[in-house]
Amino acid sequence: MDVIVADDRAELVEARQALGVGEGGSTLALVPTMGALHEGHRSLMRLAREHADHVAVSIFVNPLQFGPGEDYARYPRTFEADLEVCAAEGVGVVFAPAAEEMYLPDRQVTVSAGPMGTVAEGAFRPGHFDGVLTVVLKLFNLVRPDAAVFGRKDAQQLALIRRMVADLDVPVSVVGAPTIREADGLALSSRNRYLSPEDRTVALALSRALFAGAQEGTPAEIRRAARAVLDAEPEADVDYLILADPATFAEVGDDHGGEAILAVAARVGTTRLIDNVVLTLG
Ligand code: AMP
Repeated sequence: MDVIVADDRAELVEARQALGVGEGGSTLALVPTMGALHEGHRSLMRLAREHADHVAVSIFVNPLQFGPGEDYARYPRTFEADLEVCAAEGVGVVFAPAAEEMYLPDRQVTVSAGPMGTVAEGAFRPGHFDGVLTVVLKLFNLVRPDAAVFGRKDAQQLALIRRMVADLDVPVSVVGAPTIREADGLALSSRNRYLSPEDRTVALALSRALFAGAQEGTPAEIRRAARAVLDAEPEADVDYLILADPATFAEVGDDHGGEAILAVAARVGTTRLIDNVVLTLG
């Protein structure tokens, strides 16, 4: 069956009916995206199919999660190619609303991400996670999925979505998906298409730093090894390198045991990139 494109709320209701979602226990999994779809997004769609009878993909470049001076206007928009990707992956419905469809002109209420929204990535992008959680909650309410799939590439985002679902009793089961990388280690990202060939070489320092850190044992050694790789690539303008508690995104102490997330954000040329790996300590 062809993928159904829904631009507004009414079309979304029709699409759910056409697919038979909810009938005889038929379930729906949502993959929220901002489009410019790549192999990472495709892996999320495949995982979504394992968790539900039908898959919905939303394509929406959310103005609320971009700060002033960020790349909202120039964010890549490749809708026709994205539709082909969704069709090839057996997606049932693509929800692609305009910003005016999503946000009322007199809107006032937003989701507050709380303390985890202000550290790490949140410290460099004030308000970003409030914008993310607001749009994700709206997408959940509009699409009404049983499950939703998010990439661990955006680890803090995934942690905050799990937090929101728990704290606000949102009836959606959240599924985390592994990070898909190029053969040389670069994590796939819609923003990679901004990178010049020289930038792309510089960008490899991020994953190299994470993999170097992952070879070490203690928090101090992990941080030192990762930092050394970044220091050797001065063209990568590092915003942060943290070894964080996955539940809070605060830096872990030297005696931390269990899971920790080694995360990096850096600007390469005009492009800001993030990446992370999950480590088990002690
Ligand atoms: P975006 O379109 O960048 O907002 O991403 C949409 C979803 O795809 C998010 O849940 C991301 O975490 C996920 N994603 C982006 N890049 C990757 C990747 N390289 N591997 C796995 N998931 C990814």
